[in-house]
Amino acid sequence: MGSVIGSAGLAGCEWLRYDYNPTLIAQDRPESFTMWRYRQLLPIGDGPVRYPVPIGGTPLLPAPALRQTLGMPHLWLKDETRNPSASNKDRATALVLEDGLRRHIDTITTASTGNAAVATAVGAAAAGIRAVIFVSTDCQPDKLALMTQAGAWVFQVRHGYPAAVDLSRTAAHTFGWLDRNTGANPLTIEAKKTVAFEVWEQLGRQPPDVMITPVGDGPTLVALDKGFTELVHCGLATRQPRLIGIQAEHCQPLVRAWHGTPAQPAHLDPTATIADGIAVVRPAIGNAVLDAIHRSGGALTAVSDDALLSAVATLASRAGVGAEPAGAAALAGLEIAVEHGLADPAETVALLITGREMKANKATTRPDRMAIVETLDEVERFLAGDC
Ligand SMILES: *Cc1c(COP(=O)(O)O)cnc(C)c1O
Repeated sequence: MGSVIGSAGLAGCEWLRYDYNPTLIAQDRPESFTMWRYRQLLPIGDGPVRYPVPIGGTPLLPAPALRQTLGMPHLWLKDETRNPSASNKDRATALVLEDGLRRHIDTITTASTGNAAVATAVGAAAAGIRAVIFVSTDCQPDKLALMTQAGAWVFQVRHGYPAAVDLSRTAAHTFGWLDRNTGANPLTIEAKKTVAFEVWEQLGRQPPDVMITPVGDGPTLVALDKGFTELVHCGLATRQPRLIGIQAEHCQPLVRAWHGTPAQPAHLDPTATIADGIAVVRPAIGNAVLDAIHRSGGALTAVSDDALLSAVATLASRAGVGAEPAGAAALAGLEIAVEHGLADPAETVALLITGREMKANKATTRPDRMAIVETLDEVERFLAGDC
């Protein structure tokens, strides 16, 4: 394990630090290209990885037809839809569960807009750990079906995602469960930063000029910043890419904050956008996002639902990548970034494609594993029968 020198919670935006040096990332070809390749820059102890499913090591696609359409010869797609539960949430889930397996904790909880919950349900099933999920009552039914099919307990909370986060965090604290809430557990950032290491390796140990990513709660972008910054600290890169964050027009608290313009109610309506994966009104680590964007020389911008749908169609027809609307946000934002001079078509630009389109699957919801709740007492009573 890399020696961790100093750590703190996410609230103070202090990150885990390591004894940075170039040997922390092996130069030889990995026999298996997964996120555990970077374990010397992850806070796990020695010994074999217990988490049983390979995570990460996703392809960086050259997408020749898309390059031609856009006139961008150095465009790349980092295809995070290839993770086992079809989103970038699998990395964070795997590291939190690895920690839980090592500490013999039998239950993991998270609140989620959907994808983190699916990743947690599926990952916990693979690890043999119980998952207790909190979502808003307007969570997509298809995603609920996937969670309960994987055996998770799912609680729907009427007052939306923020209330679900409160309940999940209180439950974790009260019952000693693993807390996978994004922005609450620093392991989520540690895991997601491996995307930066992979992109750097896949480009021949060079960072791209620009990396574009959707932004919801913030950990995906903040983790990219941490990963690329750590490569510089290790002496393995001399600069980091400009980071451009994309939000949905209907839910763009950070874009407003970035431009210093007050958000109107129409800018803060998570139910109004099709980009459910990034529809977060109070981003858990919003200040860290603004800070990372500022330091990297990047920007934040918002895209319409029409632009998201068009990006989904373009990814399918010009790159053969099936993305959900939030997962295609980086492509939707690319056009605006080029228009505004934030990215040059001749530069090396990597788009993070974060989530796969929902297949018309046959997962059936298990009503016996679901309940609408408001309090922890109700949660406890519901789970009492589960021994
Ligand atoms: C979670 C998610 C993101 C980014 O979310 P952060 O909370 O900012 O890390 C992007 N796209 C999809 C599809 C997601 O599910």
